[in-house]
Amino acid sequence: MNDCPCCPPEPTRRGVLWGASALAGTFMLGTHAEAQQRRILPAIPAGPNVQNEWLPLVDFHTHLQKNVQADDLVTYMKDTNVARLVLMPLYYGDSGGSVNDGQGSDEQARDYARKYPDRFVPFVGMQRPDLNDRETYRTSTNVGRRLVKETEEKLASGEFFGMGEFMLRFYPYTNKFGIVATLDRDYPADGWFMRQCADLSARYRAPMVFHAEAEPKVADAARRLFEAHPQAIFVWSHNCGRSSATDIARMFERYPNLYADLGGMGYSGTGVEHYGVYWPKRTEWMHLIVDEFGILTPEMKAVFERFSDRFTLGTDIAHARVYANYRGHIPRWRRILTQLSPQAARNIAFATAERLFRMSTAGHQRFAPLAPVPV
Ligand SMILES: [Zn+2]
Ligand SMILES: [Zn+2]
Repeated sequence: MNDCPCCPPEPTRRGVLWGASALAGTFMLGTHAEAQQRRILPAIPAGPNVQNEWLPLVDFHTHLQKNVQADDLVTYMKDTNVARLVLMPLYYGDSGGSVNDGQGSDEQARDYARKYPDRFVPFVGMQRPDLNDRETYRTSTNVGRRLVKETEEKLASGEFFGMGEFMLRFYPYTNKFGIVATLDRDYPADGWFMRQCADLSARYRAPMVFHAEAEPKVADAARRLFEAHPQAIFVWSHNCGRSSATDIARMFERYPNLYADLGGMGYSGTGVEHYGVYWPKRTEWMHLIVDEFGILTPEMKAVFERFSDRFTLGTDIAHARVYANYRGHIPRWRRILTQLSPQAARNIAFATAERLFRMSTAGHQRFAPLAPVPV
């Protein structure tokens, strides 16, 4: 029964696939178990006459590091009309030739949200040294079991709204700010750890944000994960790992529990310092959403219009020293919004994210009622 216009249809494959999940040896957390309600976020005011360009934004994809102050973030947000930030703690420190400017923590994100509960939406951070290990993703290990237990406790507290960013297929990179990411990560999307977290996602209605460049074998593994966990809530970062418009549309048709963030994809072109925004595209599997002038590609524009309730935007500020440039990341997003219909612009600017923060507790793939936002 699908009694809410916001709700994706109830997956019909659920019974078969949850059985398959049990046979595969994953924990069964119970689709109808009691899950802790998250704290309530107030609605974002946006009157019906607000033009696309000036809509309030929810920045759904940012990271939190030790040397970033809550007061500074709020100043940047006020300056740019960004209503909320999702804070995904970046635990990585600097070692072995890598420079991350990270050392964030879940406790830091939680404390920032306690201070500014309307502004910050903390996720349980998955960029941890403990997860720079293929075995932890592939199979059950002591480290993985401990992380699953700790993650469940945090989700049960009601103070965390999701999990991420899981780093599955990620290329090394350097930038002009001195950031050096040395690891060439290639971890299985359908391995033990992701499946445990998918069960947590289903139980706590917690979106799980993951980074996986959509090389063919990576995309195959992601699809196996979606097939096996139709009640989990997946947000495949960076436009489904920079998949093609055709592949994204096909996946959205098949998986009603799949979403995409556009983290960091508002810019492209020579001279742009950001992971993954090269123009022209760097590999045959990396598709961009805008040209070097910030104009949407026609094929992605059509997908955004058709599936705007699956997309969120995000600046993807990943390192403390880069936050000083936060204000400069916003104009291109606003330019993108001007190229969309009012409905699509509202969804991508803030409404899809707001629905993801309000998923109902376990048992149904549906959205909780959303406070009225004129569209
Ligand atoms: Zn990413
Ligand atoms: Zn990121």
